[in-house]
Amino acid sequence: MGSVDVVLAAGRVQAIGPGARAGAPEGAEIVDCTGLLVLPGLIDAHTHAVWAGTRLGDFVRRQGGASYASILEGGGGIHTSVAATRAADEATLLALARARLAPMLALGVTTVEVKSGYGLTTEAEARLLRVARAAAGPLRVEPTFLGAHTIPRDRDRADYLDELCGPMMAACAPLATAVDVYCDRGAFTLAEADRILRAGRAHGLAVKAHAEQVEFTGVAALAAGLGALSCDHLERIDDAGITAMAAAGSVAVLLPGAMLYLRDPSPPVARLREAGVRMAVATDLNPGSSPLGDLWTAATLACLTMGLSPEEALAGITANAALALGLPDRGHLRPGAVADVALYRPPPGELADARVLVQYMGGHRAERVYIDGVRVG
Ligand SMILES: [Zn+2]
Repeated sequence: MGSVDVVLAAGRVQAIGPGARAGAPEGAEIVDCTGLLVLPGLIDAHTHAVWAGTRLGDFVRRQGGASYASILEGGGGIHTSVAATRAADEATLLALARARLAPMLALGVTTVEVKSGYGLTTEAEARLLRVARAAAGPLRVEPTFLGAHTIPRDRDRADYLDELCGPMMAACAPLATAVDVYCDRGAFTLAEADRILRAGRAHGLAVKAHAEQVEFTGVAALAAGLGALSCDHLERIDDAGITAMAAAGSVAVLLPGAMLYLRDPSPPVARLREAGVRMAVATDLNPGSSPLGDLWTAATLACLTMGLSPEEALAGITANAALALGLPDRGHLRPGAVADVALYRPPPGELADARVLVQYMGGHRAERVYIDGVRVG
């Protein structure tokens, strides 16, 4: 790779390339990349990083043959995390969230999407979004409102939907940038998802959906029709959903952790690729279906289990992940991009080629990390 400089100034990438420092403006940060791999700061576009309690019991039951959906329908799964999260105080939740995000920053992740969804009351959901926002710094957090994670056990379905689309949306929308819905067996129906996403959009939120994971519902096509930034999971998406996503420019966020833990089939990556749907890769960090916090591991798993190329995996944790969050000026190193940068040492004896970080699975700690042009790690 030779001696490459990245010049950062005023929070933006000013220049990149051999000798770029020559024209650097006064006060610019000159990042000397000699011997290192330089990438835009990584972006994890789908996590549920704020929760309390354990789901070890679910894991043991699934390994004994129980399905994710049957555990959820039996009052376990997400409901177990909701009970423990409601019982925890805000300081505890914040400490847990920070403890989960800090290792991500060490891996060079500079932006993380964090969903609510383990509160499921107006006050508890707003609290989770406040915690997600408070957990930022230096890492950037993009909070997503997921009061539509599932219907709480202690609530009438119609009453909960009225609260969700009314006072809860009004209280949570100012704390979030997007609305999300889990439309699947054991959670919300297609008609309910339509109502929830429209209510979020009316409050100015971007649209996202947990789509076609356990069962096919048609929510990918629905969400794309509402201009969704992303549809996530997609193990069982059909051609109409793919066509709708391509037409809307919705990003396919692939979550190989959940796919492996739940032993689901692979999303139809070849058909998504052929249709021109951009693909991102995320951890889906959560205690139930994807206890995985290492975005590099997710990138490698997306290659091994879904058939992405190393180049697609790298785009999936940078530029395409940024698009899934509606942030087109992140995830690039071109001049004008946000000055979030991560530098890595290749594995011993390896090529100075970023694809080796996908080839070798996980745990790639960054040598240096910059956010907004400032060194933070
Ligand atoms: Zn999720």
